[in-house]
Amino acid sequence: MKVLLRLTPYIKQHIWAFSFGLFGLLGARIFEALIPLYVKMGIDNIMAAQSANETGDILSPESIAIAQATLVYPALAICACVVAQMVVTIISRILIRRIGIYAAFDIRNQLYGHMQRQGPAFFAKFSIGDLMARAINDVSLIRQFLAGTTRLTSVLVFTAVVGLGFMFSLSAQLALIVILPLPVISVVAWIYSKHIYKQSHIVQEGFSRLSTFVQENLNGIRTVQAMAQEQDEVRRFGMVNDEFAQHNQTLFITNSALSAWMPILAATATLIILGYGSHLVTTGEITLGTFAAFFSYLALLLWPVREAGAMVTQWQRGASGTQRVFEVLDYEPEIRDYASEDSANPEFPELTGKVSVRHLYYQYVDKNKYALEDINFDVEPGETIAILGRVGSGKSTLLRLFVRLIDPVKGDILLDGHPINGFPLDFLRHQVCLVLQDPFLFADSLGDNIAYDRPDRDVSDIWESADAAALRETIENFPEGLQTILGERGVTLSGGQKQRTALARGLVRMTPLLILDDCFSAVDTETEEHILSGLKSVRQNLTTLLVSHRVSTARHADRIIVLDEGKIVEMGSHQALLESNGFYADLEKAQRVKGGMLDQIESDEAKI
Ligand code: ADP
Ligand code: MG
Repeated sequence: MKVLLRLTPYIKQHIWAFSFGLFGLLGARIFEALIPLYVKMGIDNIMAAQSANETGDILSPESIAIAQATLVYPALAICACVVAQMVVTIISRILIRRIGIYAAFDIRNQLYGHMQRQGPAFFAKFSIGDLMARAINDVSLIRQFLAGTTRLTSVLVFTAVVGLGFMFSLSAQLALIVILPLPVISVVAWIYSKHIYKQSHIVQEGFSRLSTFVQENLNGIRTVQAMAQEQDEVRRFGMVNDEFAQHNQTLFITNSALSAWMPILAATATLIILGYGSHLVTTGEITLGTFAAFFSYLALLLWPVREAGAMVTQWQRGASGTQRVFEVLDYEPEIRDYASEDSANPEFPELTGKVSVRHLYYQYVDKNKYALEDINFDVEPGETIAILGRVGSGKSTLLRLFVRLIDPVKGDILLDGHPINGFPLDFLRHQVCLVLQDPFLFADSLGDNIAYDRPDRDVSDIWESADAAALRETIENFPEGLQTILGERGVTLSGGQKQRTALARGLVRMTPLLILDDCFSAVDTETEEHILSGLKSVRQNLTTLLVSHRVSTARHADRIIVLDEGKIVEMGSHQALLESNGFYADLEKAQRVKGGMLDQIESDEAKI
């Protein structure tokens, strides 16, 4: 329950509207509670008129005339109360609803911003489907809580307080007896509320599982279909779905059980009034009008009693949703932006692309071995360096450290002599561009995918980088050219075309340091050759780090760094490394033989 207090900052800025809304609801309840008083007044007037009439005949023309005259005012007052109650209720509802909508809006924005800054551990803890469920479903529970539950609760509390207040003012004796069942209600609600919170949490988690399942399945739909797993997937989904439905049912049953208590308690109160009230009327302690008014107040009070069960459920669901949203919001990003957090945020000039790596170590949390161990090297501005190594040797890990997607365990990366965690993160990522191994394209136009960081780039710049990435022909083959809309994740492009689009996206930024992670793995050797030989002239004085597991890629670089099992084993030019007859020379020989064999097979196929 305490977790709900965390929503206060979101209503703070709307506190006036909120208080106004609540006061409105209180006002509406008072108007409502005035009605029985006028009923009482009417009845008592009639009774008075009857006893005043000598004939004692209630249907005599005189007594009817008196009754009519005395009834006009109560009747008009009742009409006025109904209208006032309606108007005030509508205004209050609108005010409170709006707060729910605004608060949910703020929380959604905050969640989205928060997720943008998260690192790998966060995404390992929360799956995409889970995050979507929390951002949509749980935020929606918060909205319902703020807009609906608070309103319902205040209506219930006000009705109860106002109703009981009037009851006490009419007859404290009768009122005291009527509230006897109240402690029982509280205990019952308290017992059930714990179960409801737990079950509601389970239901929300189940929704997360459903959402994760669907998200993963649809992302991998091609694999599912290629492996003929549709039936199995449907069966597995059925299981998750069934579980979700069952949890929902459990929650519903608990909720109904709680609600079922309420009419019993309400009936008890009715019996009390009927029995004790009629006794008081006969002894003359209360008038018949008061007795009737008590019944009207009971009718008013029965509604809150009946709704109390629903209210407890709503409170618990709101608390559960809030808890799940704040679990995400409380997750501190692993990568801290030290420079931006510093109030004296220093300004840095554009970097030159000079790189120094000093005693760099990295270890994944779930591994007992360093992925990178004591890495040291220097790069001068304008150099092109190839980092070569077998699959799993730590190349991608090294590159991720450069843009601080992860932070090293020990050691430093320096750009122009400054450790990179001294730069504001945004600045660093504007100076160093990393083109990832598995390119991600957005469901947008080809042109906007290339100019992703700045959609207002000159078309000539886009074409220039497309040329450098050997992408011109691909673009021109689409009738819509740069305006061609790619499917989600770029499904309309081949693997190589995707890689080259991602490469063009990296090239167009002309950052002092460009890092390419195995960008040519799905590009044929001839195109690769063409791109690499052009790269130097495009990025004249700018530094490029180029990662590959192919010697054919690495040979174009000024220098080559060979990684093996997370350590640098060799460093030098292509020629020097071949001559030293070490790891690189062996790799070259092995890949030459394999490449040659492939060439042989290809030419044999051509002959057939
Ligand atoms: P490369 O890019 O050279 O193929 P990586 O840098 O991707 O190699 O991986 C280096 C080592 O780190 C491998 O042993 C790999 O299994 C491990 N590794 C990579 N990513 C992760 C991760 N997210 N969690 C745990 N281990 C990882
Ligand atoms: Mg890799």
